[in-house]
Formats: sequence, structure tokens, C-alpha cells
Amino acid sequence: MKFRTEFQDREIARKILEQIEQAPLDRQVSLMEVCGTHTVAIFRHGIKQLLPRKIRLISGPGCPVCVTDLADIDRGIEVAKLPQVIFTSFGDMLKVPGSSSSLSTARAEGADVRIVYSCLDALKIARENPEKDVVFFGIGFETTSPTIAATVAQAKEQAINNFFVLSSFKLLPPALSALLVDEDIKVDGFILPGHVCTIIGSEILNYIAEQYKTPSVIAGFEPVDILGSVLMLLRQIETNTPEIKIAYRRSVRPEGNRNALALLDRVFEPAEATWRGIGTIPGSGLKLRKDYQMFGAEERYNVKIENIERPTGCRCAEVLKGLIDPPECKLFRRRCNPENPLGSCMVSSEGTCATWYKYGG
Ligand code: SF4
Repeated sequence: MKFRTEFQDREIARKILEQIEQAPLDRQVSLMEVCGTHTVAIFRHGIKQLLPRKIRLISGPGCPVCVTDLADIDRGIEVAKLPQVIFTSFGDMLKVPGSSSSLSTARAEGADVRIVYSCLDALKIARENPEKDVVFFGIGFETTSPTIAATVAQAKEQAINNFFVLSSFKLLPPALSALLVDEDIKVDGFILPGHVCTIIGSEILNYIAEQYKTPSVIAGFEPVDILGSVLMLLRQIETNTPEIKIAYRRSVRPEGNRNALALLDRVFEPAEATWRGIGTIPGSGLKLRKDYQMFGAEERYNVKIENIERPTGCRCAEVLKGLIDPPECKLFRRRCNPENPLGSCMVSSEGTCATWYKYGG
């Protein structure tokens, strides 16, 4: 198949579904998608309901907005409040609750917080406002971070010295390792994100099968992609032959995108990062390398965040680990909804709670 429409074809989907239904499963299996785009696609196409009851699809920590820790939001708010700062961010981040406020509230109280659609927009604002510090709130997985690396490299080449990045980036492989060693989480297979793997490739993930004996399939985002990946996972489970399979060959190569990886490696290095609901994972974030540290907002402002108040009642931590479905949270829908999100999983349209809210269970 070459064209997108083929991956939406109802007849092809039906045939895959028939094969899934015939798979000889002697127990319930849980397959985790680790990508907000997959979560939305699964709900939008009703894939959960199409699958036999023995196959449970659960959502993991795949939405970058959702996994941004309270402390990172609090730090962003403190930086945004500084009088010399123009704080720029993707729009989703403005509504994410910190421990007592949000960027949106900080903006209403007078902070200069601006929504941008790319890091290059932030660089442009920096060029146009040489008397101000322009800070970009860097969130996202390996899909996003190479473009930020390119922007930082460009800022250095052009000697723009009032542009800074507040890094809250996340790396997928260390997070998968953290999920795999968590005894509370029972995952029989992973549906892995096609866009992240377009950058990082599949080879870097071979350890999931070799070390943890867990089947994984890298999938695209159309219904046939997702159903096909479920079938491929069932085959691996059935034959007890865990491996990393690419079911998104129109974009993913085993070695990944070497240019993007080289750029990322030139500007950033792995660093410890805290994931909302999961905790601190070594090597799962990014910090600027020494040659680029002059663009680091954390280094420039040295804002210390202490006494973080975790919201009571919000069960994002369990949602992000796939331990509960959002309706199991008592706040879901009534007190917590997209208009008034109490937790990060309700903010982004790709958050698990927001997706359940929009499409139902
Ligand atoms: Fe948190 Fe709201 Fe989701 Fe409950 S419904 S877990 S309060 S985001």
C-alpha cells in the first residue's frame, strides 16, 4: 500500500479485524500506545470497541503536554513573570495547571506570554525585540526537539543573544524502560509512535524485545495502521517471539533520521527529567550542551522551585501509566473538563482524559 486512503480502507480494515478475532488468545492481553496521536486515532475510529474483549488497549505517557511536570510549569510561570521576559510557548501549555497557577493566569496578571506555532516564531520575536529576553518553553519528544535544536543553532550562527530555551523535552526510550520495570504496569505489547520513530529509528528500541521480552510494533496513525499493528503484536505474543517490528515503513527506517539525530546531538545532551505521574527518569530529558548553554533559560535565571503542591484528587499519575481509565477519576467530566482542566491529561486534545471526554468510553 502506498497511499493514505489505502490505510483508511474499510474493507482492508475488516479483513485485518477478522484475523484479529481468529487469534488464539488464552488470556486477556493489554497493549499500550505511547502516543497521544494514537490515542486520538484509536478513539476517533472506534477501534477499542471493534476489538475482541480479550484485547485491551491502554494509553501510556505519550502526550508531551500531559507528562510535563508541575515543577516545570511552575518554573515556566516564574520565568514568564520576570519583567524583562517575553515568554513564548505552544498554545496547549498555557492551560496546564502548575501547583497553584498556570501560564494563562500569569498572562492575565500581566506577564508577557505569547503563543507561537514554532520555535522559529520565538526567534523572530527575539530579533524584533532586542531589548527583551525571549524565552521559548521547549516541550515535546524527539519529533519536536530537532527543530528546536536547529533554531538554537541558527540563533548561535546569527549571534542572537536575547533568545533562550527553557528545556522540558522528553526522550521516549528511557520512559519505555521505566514503564517496563514498573511492577504495577502489565503490558503485553507496545504500539510505538511512528513520528517519534521516524526520528529515532527502530534499532535503538531493540532492547525492549531483547532485554524485556516485550513485543513492539511501530505504527502509523490510520485505522489500517493501528489494526495491523495489533495483529502483528498478537502474532508475536502467540508465537512468543518478541521483536521490534516496523509497520510504518513509509516513514520509519531502522536507523532513523541521521541528520535530525546529529543535529539534536550537536546541540543537546541527555539529562535527568521528571515526568508528571511517573517521577524522575535518568537520561529521559535534554539539556543544552556546553557550547550552547548561553541559550539556556534555566542557566540564565536560576529559578528555584520549592514546595510543590500536588493537586488532590487528580489521578493523572495512574492515567499516564495506563493503570486506570479516566472515568475512574471522580473529578472526570463534572469538575474536570477541557474548559476547566484540573490535571494535565485534560488539557491537550491528545491527552487521555480529554480524548475520553470528547469521544466517550
Ligand atoms: Fe486529572 Fe482531570 Fe484526568 Fe481526573 S479527569 S485524572 S482530575 S486530568
